[in-house]
Amino acid sequence: MTQPGGLHVVMYHYVRDLPRSRFPRLKAMLAQDFRLQVKSLSAEFDICGLDVALEYLHGRYQPKRRLCLLTFDDGLKEHYHEVTAELARQRVSGLFFVITDSTENHRVAPVHKNHFLTASLDFSAYQAEFLERIGAAASVLENVDAKAARRTYIWDEEAAAVFKYFFNFVVEPAVRDRAIAAMFEAHIGPEAEFAQSLYASWDELRQMQAEGMVIGGHTHRHRPCSSLTDGELSDDLGLCRRSLDANLSPQRFWPFSYPYGKADSYTAHTVGELKRLGFDCSFSTEPGVNHPGDDLFSLRRMDCKVAVAGRKVA
Ligand SMILES: [Zn+2]
Repeated sequence: MTQPGGLHVVMYHYVRDLPRSRFPRLKAMLAQDFRLQVKSLSAEFDICGLDVALEYLHGRYQPKRRLCLLTFDDGLKEHYHEVTAELARQRVSGLFFVITDSTENHRVAPVHKNHFLTASLDFSAYQAEFLERIGAAASVLENVDAKAARRTYIWDEEAAAVFKYFFNFVVEPAVRDRAIAAMFEAHIGPEAEFAQSLYASWDELRQMQAEGMVIGGHTHRHRPCSSLTDGELSDDLGLCRRSLDANLSPQRFWPFSYPYGKADSYTAHTVGELKRLGFDCSFSTEPGVNHPGDDLFSLRRMDCKVAVAGRKVA
């Protein structure tokens, strides 16, 4: 049923001219579909900036039309080339969440190595090589919580969802990262070089700010916040915040988005740390619409694929 009012937040990751790219099998939104989607969203919603969205959530602003906020995770270079150009053309703002270690130290986040390996290798070959490199038997996947996997990766087939969940949440991160780094180097190429083509540079992010875009944090190393010890979490979020402050122009508000983003990917302690570091709000990947008085650190988003499909979530 259509709910009156509300702040709809749309979440994007890859937006690229896929058929002409080196990885046409990557799961991405086509740049041309993105342009059409922004047009159709602006016919239906007021695409607003973060300042207006926060005024609304604080109950201090009553819009005539429903509000919509556009958010982009992972600080990708296409967010500079494809997205910012289009948003600036349509005179709207977007929020862009940066993995500071990737931008600063040219490291490809394990989740992205996984995406590009998946786009390059046949799934069963990839899975077999990964399990072999970590010294695990294929039967190890039988112990994965398939329900949690399906909930986290709603767009994937069950086997792929189970493997992704195992990869991102079950395997010891240091073991996983070593195996994947070796596979990445073997199949894709040198990491630092690839990172510089995948992520926007600080200079590009500052140019995006100058075009009216808002940059936010997405952790330093893109690990699920709830998987970190208290010490690891405050180190990671502290590095993220300091890196944003040191490299970007000042902003009135600093948003954050949780990697992976489901309700179990962060805790009350995560929220406390974000507040302590001066972040103003944070976005999850739990679906839904936001209303005045809602918790600013558990804001809901809808995936752009759902928004494309139309009114399903409205
Ligand atoms: Zn992310």
